[in-house]
Amino acid sequence: MNTLTETTDAIMPDPSLMEKAGNIIRSGGLVAFPTETVYGLGGDALNPSSSQKIYAAKGRPSDNPLIVHIADLDALPLLSDDIPDTLYMLAEVFWPGPLTMIIKKSRSVPKATTGGLDTVAVRMPDHNTALSFIRAAGGYIAAPSANASGRPSPTLASHVYEDLSGKIDMIIDGGEVGIGVESTIVDLTEKTPVILRPGYITSEMLERVLGKVDTDVTLIEGTDKRPPKAPGMKYRHYAPKAQMMLIEGDTGKVIEMMNKEAAAAAENGLKCGILCTDEIKDSIKADLVLSVGSRNDEASIARSLYRVLREFDSAGIDMIYSESFPDKGFGQAVMNRLSKAAGFNIKKIQ
Ligand code: AMP
Ligand code: MG
Repeated sequence: MNTLTETTDAIMPDPSLMEKAGNIIRSGGLVAFPTETVYGLGGDALNPSSSQKIYAAKGRPSDNPLIVHIADLDALPLLSDDIPDTLYMLAEVFWPGPLTMIIKKSRSVPKATTGGLDTVAVRMPDHNTALSFIRAAGGYIAAPSANASGRPSPTLASHVYEDLSGKIDMIIDGGEVGIGVESTIVDLTEKTPVILRPGYITSEMLERVLGKVDTDVTLIEGTDKRPPKAPGMKYRHYAPKAQMMLIEGDTGKVIEMMNKEAAAAAENGLKCGILCTDEIKDSIKADLVLSVGSRNDEASIARSLYRVLREFDSAGIDMIYSESFPDKGFGQAVMNRLSKAAGFNIKKIQ
């Protein structure tokens, strides 16, 4: 299959391109599109064969459900006969935006889209191109991140091309995404809502609207043996090809250890990469030292994270040592992705 890449202004998407992309979806094809979080791989959420094609293109296990993207609240009643008030309360504050909500699904939503579950994940992205595309496609786009399964999520159209060219019909290139990590997922089917995946919308922000919110325990400890409630969280994910270790501790000691490990890697003929911040970049010597931005700017760290992990892969790095970050607020989402990329290989130094 020849994958067409079409560029558009992200804020003022070209209507004829939206129509072309919408027609591909209506006839059962796949289109990757930008959102404010990461690029998504879209298909018709109400067509089981489209969802099957998404799993095949990504090499994604079919028990890992997709998120249904909508552009208008009017689209909701078809997806669920049992929409909780909490959804509307959160939608009023956070939609369009990087928040995915899990509710009971109706019969209109095929199980092929929900990985066999009786619940459905719904989100309204805060991105003009995404919204126009969803409307042009009929209002219901099933989309996971547009990466090959197991690779870091795409924050640029070129990342999508790298992973999926030849496997999908079209890529809409709307430039670099704004947030850079996937949406927060909150399960509204429990008595107390539960965060299944941390993201830009933090538990504090959700609690301001809902009162108490829980966090799935399997997110906090990589060692927890219970299966996570968001099936996707159990897979090795967000991962570079290299081995990776996070180093936590006093900055001076972190720098010292990074330099020591880089020197040891060189002696063993291994290529060593360092993922760090602007503040310490110049103090480190290794094959490839990449900064994700300033330590004081969480947003830039999140936006650069996956691009930098992909750069280590392109450079053929064998071992990555990474700085770690405060596990609070939006930092929790960054640390969640980093810890998973490192397979929870975290070294604490005193
Ligand atoms: P992705 O968009 O690639 O991040 O994948 C969607 C994420 O949403 C995966 O981690 C899924 O496990 C999660 N998800 C989607 N639908 C549901 C659902 N009904 N219940 C729990 N998690 C879900
Ligand atoms: Mg994904």
